Amino acid sequence: MPSANLCFRMQAGGRAFPLRLPTYTAQELDAHIAGDHPKCQFCGTHFYEREQWEMHMMANHPYCELCDADFRNAEEFTEHLRLVV
Ligand SMILES: [Zn+2]
Ligand SMILES: [Zn+2]
Ligand SMILES: [Zn+2]
Repeated sequence: MPSANLCFRMQAGGRAFPLRLPTYTAQELDAHIAGDHPKCQFCGTHFYEREQWEMHMMANHPYCELCDADFRNAEEFTEHLRLVV
């Protein structure tokens, strides 16, 4: 019997009742999360909506306004500034 999976990110979002959520096979769930939810390119963490992703990026990954680029961590950002400035 194929296992049915709920998109737990949507449950975490709290916008829908669990019984109303679509269920997915493992493959469908992967595709759904990859296609419908923003992902942090550095940690691979998925977020329910873009707002949460932006907050994660602001809190965890430095952003260079000059280059419009994100960096994995403070070390990489410092190294970047050293090279550019
Ligand atoms: Zn989802
Ligand atoms: Zn991240
Ligand atoms: Zn830069």
